[in-house]
Amino acid sequence: MQLVTLKCPTCNANIQVNSELTQGTCNYCGATFLIDDEVKKRDQLSEEDGFNFEKGRIRAQKEEEERQRAENIRLAQEEFKRRQLAEQERLANVNKSYKIGFIKMLILSAAVVCGVGLIYLIAYFLR
Ligand SMILES: [Zn+2]
Repeated sequence: MQLVTLKCPTCNANIQVNSELTQGTCNYCGATFLIDDEVKKRDQLSEEDGFNFEKGRIRAQKEEEERQRAENIRLAQEEFKRRQLAEQERLANVNKSYKIGFIKMLILSAAVVCGVGLIYLIAYFLR
């Protein structure tokens, strides 16, 4: 005698029946059914379960890949923005140092002009 676990087609309870018999009876609701049919149904269902599980696994994997891809794009965009900001800052600093250089040169030229003027003035009065 070989016992197999099946679901009762009437009340859906888990029942054990002798697979060597052709007909089984549910201990819970008393329904009778053909054991062969129920074994086939059970195997088909477990195959579908396996198939659905595999489908779910593949979908989860794809979702994970998609999430990873989106994350990589986001990181690349952040890096690009960061570099852009750094470049803008660098250009602003270059600009600022040019301005400061220009002002220094202006002050120096004014000082030279004043100095020369002063020397001429002194030379004029000491003549
Ligand atoms: Zn039953």
